[in-house]
This record gives sequence, structure tokens and C-alpha cells, in this order.
Amino acid sequence: MALTGVEIFKLLPKTNCKKCGQPTCLAFAMKLAQRQASLDQCPDVSEEAKQKLGEASAPPIRPITLGAGAKAVKLGEETVLFRHEKKFVNPCAFAVKIEDTLSESEIGKKLDEVLTSEIDRVGQKLRVDAVFLSNDSGDPAKLEALAKLTAQKAPDVPVIISTKNPEAAGAALSHFSGKNAILYGADADNMSGMAEKAKAAKAALGIAAKNLDEVPDLTEKAKGLGIEDILIDSGARKAGEILRDNTYIRRAALKKGVKSVGYPVMNFAVREDQLLESLVAGLAVEKYGSVVVIGLVQKWKNLALFSLRQNIYTDPQVPMQVQQKIYKIGEPGPKAPFLITTNFSLTYFIVSGEIENCKVPCRLAVMDSEGLSVLTAWAAGKFTASKIAQFITESGIEGELEEKEIIIPGYVAILSGAIEDKLPGWKITVGPREANGLPAFLKARA
Ligand code: SF4
Repeated sequence: MALTGVEIFKLLPKTNCKKCGQPTCLAFAMKLAQRQASLDQCPDVSEEAKQKLGEASAPPIRPITLGAGAKAVKLGEETVLFRHEKKFVNPCAFAVKIEDTLSESEIGKKLDEVLTSEIDRVGQKLRVDAVFLSNDSGDPAKLEALAKLTAQKAPDVPVIISTKNPEAAGAALSHFSGKNAILYGADADNMSGMAEKAKAAKAALGIAAKNLDEVPDLTEKAKGLGIEDILIDSGARKAGEILRDNTYIRRAALKKGVKSVGYPVMNFAVREDQLLESLVAGLAVEKYGSVVVIGLVQKWKNLALFSLRQNIYTDPQVPMQVQQKIYKIGEPGPKAPFLITTNFSLTYFIVSGEIENCKVPCRLAVMDSEGLSVLTAWAAGKFTASKIAQFITESGIEGELEEKEIIIPGYVAILSGAIEDKLPGWKITVGPREANGLPAFLKARA
């Protein structure tokens, strides 16, 4: 069980030196107890205390790395039930199921779909993260052939091997040495064989429980066999079961300190009906799934699930922002319109989307307003004439334009005179208030 704040306090140096960023050792102890601080923030803590506090300060849900290199994903390590308490930290991974009963060309097609699934949204790269190689045939040779083909065609994609057969597991895992694969399928009958193969390949072990009650027994058994990195499948398949089991597991790990369920969870959303699959996967994204297995890669589904995941795993207290810079939309020449807006990502995407749709090439200056929208940024003093003038001057955009004209959002028409004063020689034009007025506005000028 986790230690209380007072128990932790007794083990700290009690000098109130503030080096940890807290005013007192007691305040730091309370933060540690709430898992909002880490022990290494106190430079003076004794080795003995470190040892005693090690378990208390360990994350309640063990972090696991799936894959290696640039495409590796970190799973688990969450510390809260609700994202308004503190940000969810490690976005769940989408893994597409590839059965070893498929033909080589079907497997190749699925791998290609995974490899080309990446999109850029709000400056972040989003993709189908992993493949779930499934031994549906029951034939070890077929699983190994699937593993070999995957290792050849998609060597950087993280891999989960799914089988109940330790021998098949060993052969398939041999193709992913040093790649932090996950071996899934350990149950009460095959645990020791599977644990042995996972350990030999330095892979995490995914337990396949029949139901939630069996989970602690299986994780304890795996731990007793020397496995530290574990992924939980509670056996939930229906949406209601996923919601129930994931909630129980997260609550037990965080609120009750139950170590035997303090691991990332894997959910299975695979369905014939792709709309239903998306809904079940979405539920798992929202409610604590760390790996979500889907059946097919489809662009419409990817977009919905990637956006949902991105929204769930952003900090609700920090607005999403895009980088301050001058974006070119289309291929703008020296006569193309030059507009300005703020860097709230929603503002940027709505404005740039309207410009793209009307096919009038433009330059769009996106100014850092700490992620606030136009009116809010203006009201907060972050989108002012002085700041706009400074940004435009420092950007050097002047040299690219035939005429020095800038189009400002209609909502801040009030700034036009002040910007004119700060940017001598520039013409300030007031654009429409709403982004959906841009196409007509830009086409009328073209
Ligand atoms: S750094 Fe350590 S000793 Fe100093 S106030 Fe924080 S907990 Fe106390």
C-alpha cells in the first residue's frame, strides 16, 4: 500500500531548504503522497529513505515501452482518473490486427496501410502505432512467416505477438530482438513457458485473463517468474465490459494502491462493422485503454480516433497551439494576400481550412498569443498593435510582398489605426469577423 504524507515526511531530511521547489518538507511529502512530485526532486534525501520510499514514489501504473527508435511508444504511467486533475501522460497506442491466415499480399497491404497512416495534426505526427500479429492459424510456422515478413517490410513498427503457444512465441519474437516487442497470450495454463520466452527476448508480457477476477493472480504469477513489464487484458470484449473493467483497474491501481493491477491495459475493439469498431475503440481511448487493437486501417476511422486520442491526451489547462510563423497556403506570389491571426490551434485550422478551400494562395501570419483565440487574446493584451507590429517587422516578410498590406481579423478592427501607426508604410485592411467569410472576401479581391 502507498505511504501517507506524514509517513513520507518522517523519512525526509526536514530542513525545509526548498530545493525541491516546495516551501517545506511536509508540503513535498504531501505532493509525493499524491504522486504529484518525484523523489529525485529532493537532492538531500538519504539512501535509506530512497529505498523505503522507492515503492511509494513509483508510478501506480508501471510504464512500458513498446517498440524502439523514433516510433517507440510509452504506455501507462498515468496518475489520475480524470484529465482535469492532471494531464493524461502517455497516449494509447493503436495496434492493427494482422492474422497469420492472410495471404502474403493481404499482409503486405495491411503493413503498407500502417506505414502510410501518419498524418500531421496541430503540429503532431499521428499514426497507427503498432501491429498485432495474431496466430489465428495455430500453426507456429505461419506465425513466424508473418513475423519475418513484418520485420522485413516494417522494421520500425512496434510489434505485439499474439499466441498461446510458447514455442511459436519464441520463433516469432526472434525477429524482433532489441525492439521492445510485447508477447501477448499468457494465461494460467501456459504462464511459465510464455514468461520464459518473454524474458529471453526482453519483451513485455501481455496476460490474457478470462475475467477481471483472474487478473491479479496472473500478474502476480508473472511477477513471481521475474517479469516486470506486464500488459493486462481482463477478457473484456463488449463495450460495457471494457468500460467496467478499465475503470475498476484504474481505480484500484490509483486509489487503493493495488500493485497487481498497476499495469497498462490492452483492449480489443475489432468488429466486422467498422462504425461499431470505431465506437468501441473510442470508448477504450476515453476510458483508460493503453493499447487498442483494431481490425482495419481506414482513413476516416484513423482521423476520428487520432483526433479523439489527441484531445483526450492534451492538457485541458493549456490551450493547443501552433508554432508562430508565416504559413504559405498554396503557392503565394508577391501579390498574394497576407493575413494575420493568433496561434490557438482551432483558430489556425479553421482559418487555414477556409483559405485552402477557396483556393486563393495566401500568406498567413500566425502570431504567438499563448494559444488564445483572436478576441480573447486581444482582451488579454496578447494580440496588440505593438506586438503585431514587432512580429511583422521581425519576420522580414516585407521583402516578399509587392505591396505592404496586411489583413487583420474583423473582430479586432479597432486595432487598425494603432497598427498603421506602428507599421509606417503598411496598409491595414480589415477582413471578415468569422473565418467562413474569408472565401467570399478573398475571391472578391482576386
Ligand atoms: S529539498 Fe528535501 S530537504 Fe529540502 S525542503 Fe524539499 S524535501 Fe525538504
